[in-house]
Amino acid sequence: MTQRFQWNRSAAFSERVDRLELHGLHFQHVNLCERRAWMYLHRVNFAQWNSHVATGAAHQATHYKRDRSTIGLFGLAPDRVDWSEAIVFENKGTGGAQGAVDHQVGFYALMLSIATGRAWTGRVQVLTNRRWREVRLDDTLLDGLWEDSLRLERLFLSERVPDAPRIGLCASCSLVAFCGYD
Ligand code: SF4
Repeated sequence: MTQRFQWNRSAAFSERVDRLELHGLHFQHVNLCERRAWMYLHRVNFAQWNSHVATGAAHQATHYKRDRSTIGLFGLAPDRVDWSEAIVFENKGTGGAQGAVDHQVGFYALMLSIATGRAWTGRVQVLTNRRWREVRLDDTLLDGLWEDSLRLERLFLSERVPDAPRIGLCASCSLVAFCGYD
């Protein structure tokens, strides 16, 4: 039996998510690189020119088809949903960028909690080592998701591409040529 979910920011958070058309990857990107998040928010996409990403996308499409349990989840794209236990699953190839991934999965759990009134949890499954970890919607994560949504709104309203330092992620980012970090 799952607990009831109550959060006094639910209405404001949902309104912002709807208005800006936010989804899980926004909440991952904003915790990795603000420039990447800005590009994604403004629908600038270089993935088709980046062979690394194109290969990864094809692999994902072929090997990790989404479970039928996710059909009908408008705007959300988790890999699987356990409706009876209120758990939302996300598969990742490796265990990297844990904080950013937890915010992506936390976003799914939060939107399902707001929509159903039940307290959902997230579960990240790491495919390469077959391990998993639980993502709980505690106060720290709720505050973090709220702050993410405010940052995303600021980035959405900004017309200037934000500054961004070179980070480890750049080597595998589809925007690397644009940023000059290749
Ligand atoms: S290449 Fe690096 S700095 Fe540029 S958008 Fe990607 S992660 Fe951010």
